[in-house]
Amino acid sequence: MKCPACGAPLGQKTRDGVEMEVCDSCGGMWLTSQELAELEDEVFDFGDDEKGSLMLGSAPSSKKCPQCGKQLQSFKYRLYELNMEFCDEGHGFWLEAGEDKRVLELMKDEEKNLGRKVIAEDRFAAHMRYLRSGSLLDKVRELTIDAIASKPKPRFDP
Ligand SMILES: [Zn+2]
Ligand SMILES: [Zn+2]
Repeated sequence: MKCPACGAPLGQKTRDGVEMEVCDSCGGMWLTSQELAELEDEVFDFGDDEKGSLMLGSAPSSKKCPQCGKQLQSFKYRLYELNMEFCDEGHGFWLEAGEDKRVLELMKDEEKNLGRKVIAEDRFAAHMRYLRSGSLLDKVRELTIDAIASKPKPRFDP
């Protein structure tokens, strides 16, 4: 597969405990989707308010899926303000270089503030697995379809 950002070949690597395709040239990361939906309730203690509103609206990206060549959709993952792009055929997610490090730093800060003993690296890996889960991809896809149909549908109930 080729990097959707710069066209260099992607190589398989394990970063922050997650297997992914990494571009040596620009440092971007491609995460193929996996069926790990069972992690959702096990690992994440979001509370009911958080669930279901983790994804903020999506828009077409300028990059193309390295697997099928379809235009990627960009969206914001509300937790950690993470910007990602994904293939709505369910092939995977694209993360810009350094985004993973930024998220890890945020998690480490949070660890300190909460005084909880959480291993940031493990949590990051869990997050990434969560994002790659089939059920989450479905949620993102629904958002995209809504955006394309541009129905005046309220995203949050009052
Ligand atoms: Zn690249
Ligand atoms: Zn694709």
